[in-house]
Amino acid sequence: MIIKLNKNISDSQKEQIHSALKVEGVAFSEISPSDGDIIIAKGRAGLGTNFLNDLAGIEELTPDKTSFKLVSRENHPEDTLVKVGPVTIGGERIVVISGPCAVESHEQTLSIAKEIKKYGATILRGGAFKPRSSPYSFQGLEEDGLKILADVREETGMPIATEMTAPSQADMMMKYVDMIQIGARNMQNFELLKCVGALNKPVMLKRGLSATIEEWLMSAEYIMAGGNTQVVICERGIRTYEPYTRNTLDLSAIPIVKNLTHLPILIDPSHATGIREKVAPMARAAIAAGADALMIEVHNNPAQAASDGAQSLFPEQFGKLMRDIYVIAPVVNKQVDFGYLEKSDVIDSTDKSDGQKLKAVFQGAMGAPDHKASRQYFGEDVELSPLNSTRQVIEHVTDGKSDYGLIPLEHSMSGSVHENYDLVIENKLHIIGEITLRIEYALAAAKGVTSAQITSVTSSPTAFHHCDKYMETRNDWQLLYAQDTATAANQVEQCKDKTSATITTKEAADMYGLEIIEEGIETSPRNYTRFAVIAKEQQSHGPKKKSSIIYQTPDKPGALLKTLSIFAEHNVNLLKLESRPVDGRPWEYMFYVDIEAAADDDSFSPVLDALKEHTDYLHILGVY
Ligand code: PEP
Ligand code: MN
Repeated sequence: MIIKLNKNISDSQKEQIHSALKVEGVAFSEISPSDGDIIIAKGRAGLGTNFLNDLAGIEELTPDKTSFKLVSRENHPEDTLVKVGPVTIGGERIVVISGPCAVESHEQTLSIAKEIKKYGATILRGGAFKPRSSPYSFQGLEEDGLKILADVREETGMPIATEMTAPSQADMMMKYVDMIQIGARNMQNFELLKCVGALNKPVMLKRGLSATIEEWLMSAEYIMAGGNTQVVICERGIRTYEPYTRNTLDLSAIPIVKNLTHLPILIDPSHATGIREKVAPMARAAIAAGADALMIEVHNNPAQAASDGAQSLFPEQFGKLMRDIYVIAPVVNKQVDFGYLEKSDVIDSTDKSDGQKLKAVFQGAMGAPDHKASRQYFGEDVELSPLNSTRQVIEHVTDGKSDYGLIPLEHSMSGSVHENYDLVIENKLHIIGEITLRIEYALAAAKGVTSAQITSVTSSPTAFHHCDKYMETRNDWQLLYAQDTATAANQVEQCKDKTSATITTKEAADMYGLEIIEEGIETSPRNYTRFAVIAKEQQSHGPKKKSSIIYQTPDKPGALLKTLSIFAEHNVNLLKLESRPVDGRPWEYMFYVDIEAAADDDSFSPVLDALKEHTDYLHILGVY
C-alpha cells in the first residue's frame, strides 16, 4: 500500500505509523518525491488499511492495487523534468539522444560523438553491456566501454547514457554514466528495477517487446517506489505479426502515456523499425505526436558496425533529421535548441558571485508568449521575470539588473516590430540569440460563459490583428485593449463578468482559470513570432549562423545595389532586407539586413571592409 504523509507530520506521529506497520509485520520504506513524503508498505495479501485508520499524520492511503500510483498524472499533475547532466528531458526543448548501438573503440565513439553533437544531439548513448539474442554475437566492451564513454564525455561535454543489464553493474554505472538505460528485454526484470530504483541516477525505461502500456508503467512504478523519481519511459516498438519492420512502433502510446503519467516519453525509432530509411519518418512523426525526446542510433561506418548497423543513420542523415524536427517542433509548441550544450556551459560558468541564477526579463504577464519563448530559450536554469513594457526590459538589461532580455522582433503576419529594433540600437545592446514561436489564439471566458453572452473582448492589439478574420464576423463586440494576452486573460478572470471574454493563448487561459470557447482562431495557422534575446555584451549561445546589420548608404544612384553586390561577390546569403525611415530625418532610409554568416568572424572582415567603404553608417546588431 502507499501511505502519503501530511506535509507537517510530527516525528512522533511518524513513529506511531512505523510501529503500527511493524506490529502487522509489514516491511516498509520511505521515499520523498517533490510533493511530500510517502511510505511504501509491502504487507501480506488481504491486510487492508483499517489498522491505520485512527492514526494522525496520514494524508492519503492507497491500498495495495495492481494499478500504478506514483507514476500517475492524477497524483502529480505537473510534468516531471528529468535532469541528465546539463540536459533536461521533459521540458519544452526536445532532447535527442544519439550514438552508436555499441561502444566499439575510443576512436569510433569520439568520432560519432563529435558528429552528432555538431548536428544537435545533447546526450551520447552507446552500449557497453549488450543484451544480444545470440550468445555468439558481440556482447559489448563492458567496463572498458564505460571508460571510453566517460572519456568521450570529457572530450565533448556531452552527458552519457548506457544500458545496465544486471544489478552487479550498479557501482560501475554510478561511477561512469549520467543515465542508465533498462532495455526492452529487462523491462520486467524486477530485481534490476529495484536496483536502479535505489540509485540516484536518471533511468530510461524501455517498453518490453510485448508489454502493455499498463505493464510498462508498472515497471516505472517499481523504480519510483524504490525512491528514484528520475524516470524517462521509452517506446521502442512492440512485437506484432508484421515482418516488414523489426518491430511495430506504437506512436499512439505517446498521447495515451502523456495522459496517464507525468513522466517524459522518449521514442526510439531505430530499434522500432530496424531499417535505416524508416527511422527519420518515424522520428518526425514522434515529434509531431508529442514525444519529449528521441533516441537515434548513428554510426560512422554502419556496414562494419558491431551491432545494429542496418538501422544506424549516417551522420549526415542524422543532421538532416535534426533540421526537419527543428522545423516541426514549434508547430507542437516545442523547440530544438542547436546551442543547448554551449548555452548551458555559458549559463553555468558565468560568474554568479552571490550564488543566484542568471536573470532574464520579458514583457507581459506569466503565460504570455514572451514567457513561453523565454522558457524555451533558457530552460530551467535562468530566473525569468515579467515586466510591464519592452522599454523596461531594455532598461533592466542596460542597467545590468538583468543579464538577458527577450523581445519580439518580427511577426510572420504583421512584419518587423520596428520600435523594438530602435530600442536595441539606442541602448547599444546586442542580439545574442533568437527563438521562433508559433502563436495560436483562443477565445476564452469564465467557466460556463457561452459565445452568445459575450459583449466585450479584451486582448492585445497584436492579437486582435492576428485574429482579424475571426473578429470581422463579431463586430458587435466591444474591444478592450490590454498590454498582452496573458494580462488580458487575468483581467477577464478578475472581473468575473459573464459578458466578457478574451483572445488569449491556451496556456494563459489555463493559468488564469478560464475556459476555452473556441481554439485556433488566428487568421493564419502559420502564425509565428520571432523573438530576439538581447544582452549588454555579445556572447555566444550556440553555433553562430546569422547576423543582423543595419546601414545607411550615400544618397546617390546605385548605392544600395553596390552594397548588395558585395554580399553576392562574397557568396553571403541574405535572409532579410528592409528599409526604414531614419528618425528625425524625413525621407532618409536605413537598411536592415539579416545575413547567413557570422559577421564577427575573421573571415568576414573583407566583407565588412567593403561595406564600410560604401556606406555612411554601419552597425552590427548581433551575431547569433
Ligand atoms: C539498445 O538500445 O541498443 C537495445 C538493445 O534496445 P532494446 O532494449 O530496445 O532492444
Ligand atoms: Mn541497438
